[in-house]
Amino acid sequence: MLEDYRNEPFTDFSLEPHQIAFQAALTQVESELGRVYGPIIGGKSIATDHQTVSINPAETSQIVGIIGQANSALAEEAIQTAASVFESWKRVPASVRSRYLYKAAAILRRRMHEFSAWMVYEAGKSWVEADVDTAEAIDFLAFYAREMDRLAERQPLVRIPGEDNELVYIPLGVGVVIPPWNFPLAILVGMTTAAIVTGNTVVLKPASPTPVIAAKFMELLQEAGLPSGVVNFLPGSGSEVGDYLVDHPLTRFISFTGSREVGLRINERAAKANPGQIWMKRVVAEMGGKDTIIVDNDCDLDLAAESITLSAFGFCGQKCSACSRAIIHEDVYDVMLTKLIDRTKKLIIGQPTEASTYIGPVIDDKAYGRILEYIELGRQEGRLIIGGNKGPSNGYFIEPTIIADVLPTARLAQEEIFGPVLAVIKASSFDEALTFANNTVFGLTGAVISRSRERLEQAREQFHVGNLYFNRKCTGALVGVHPFGGFNMSGTDSKAGGRDYLQLFMQAKVVSERL
Ligand code: GLU
Repeated sequence: MLEDYRNEPFTDFSLEPHQIAFQAALTQVESELGRVYGPIIGGKSIATDHQTVSINPAETSQIVGIIGQANSALAEEAIQTAASVFESWKRVPASVRSRYLYKAAAILRRRMHEFSAWMVYEAGKSWVEADVDTAEAIDFLAFYAREMDRLAERQPLVRIPGEDNELVYIPLGVGVVIPPWNFPLAILVGMTTAAIVTGNTVVLKPASPTPVIAAKFMELLQEAGLPSGVVNFLPGSGSEVGDYLVDHPLTRFISFTGSREVGLRINERAAKANPGQIWMKRVVAEMGGKDTIIVDNDCDLDLAAESITLSAFGFCGQKCSACSRAIIHEDVYDVMLTKLIDRTKKLIIGQPTEASTYIGPVIDDKAYGRILEYIELGRQEGRLIIGGNKGPSNGYFIEPTIIADVLPTARLAQEEIFGPVLAVIKASSFDEALTFANNTVFGLTGAVISRSRERLEQAREQFHVGNLYFNRKCTGALVGVHPFGGFNMSGTDSKAGGRDYLQLFMQAKVVSERL
């Protein structure tokens, strides 16, 4: 008998035994760096001519893994394999499918620190951020397994005499899963296993900066005994492999998390019915954010400063939930700036392998260049009050940076930066703060720090985001507790980790029998 779902607890690294265990995992993973990984189709590992390297963004000379790159011929093979395995996988009972997830969750729980350590090396996550990522991956497995069990039960319908009516959820078919690099385990695991537990088969194209973590998860699925070909692993470039998979007539749905630009492109391509295609493709997309924390004049200012710095600089702001705009009531503006500077000064930049590090590197050279350009723009559009410099030159380090006096319409206040850069905007009233908060094309997360019940209620109704938080940070949604996903250009309004999520990967069939 399985226990009720509960969130996986985070590791308390203030306790020495946990520090020792994590250090041991780092040492083990370090000894495994530089191995070769490649596409896996129908359970077979495939050697490719073309390879790329995945490097440690904190130590760019260190190779985390060598990755065989698929081409369009392998993409074709992967889709065909997924399509033929679908014929048997769709007939596996839901309860058996969910057991693979329970098993995978148990294995991941046992190997938790090892997976986190891979994220420290490949994504530059701090110990705490990596630990939270792994815990969330376990949560997705445990939660979606239970959700599938629930949806496999007899679904409630209005009953009428003389007929036996039934509604069952059946899978869609072959799904293309394109996860992001910023939660290289949690989101990848959530997207992939939501698709397979509902009876679909998958071609998984890992994010280019974090393919090794994805390959490690493939190993874990194999260890859990998942039949070959249910998940096919296809590292490769977006232009050669990604488009091919999205366009393929046998692709039934695409599950994507990443930038708005790529999400829109996928949506557009998926809308076209290609020769031989007999369905409209479904797109489930979770895209960007330009997330705001509003600081009211009547609030706990220390709580506000803490919430903003945690949300803006955790994992260097590389979360679509990250706070990239603080909109502060003019009455408390100056004192808040001082508090923000004080807290930001205390954030330790360094190698993520060190337990004390809070600010590691950003993910790659592209991000590094883009974020530095935004900082330059910030110097023109506002007043740089802290940060702005590069960190140690062996990796992609950037200081946590705050730009004050930014106009709500400035580019810095409108464009997703995805880095450790916070724009601070002054508002003359709470009403104005809400208007500014809603003035972006996104609608993912937001927070309000206030003591006023009236203003919180006003925000509850008017602040148009999918995940709204009061008197706390705007990152760190917990599976099952805070179903996650946003409005407008933030995606297709889906809620990962919520009770509606699995239905996105199924279709409902009604059978009505006259008695
Ligand atoms: N779910 C994460 C959070 O609440 C963010 C996910 C993302 O960045 O894609 O912080």
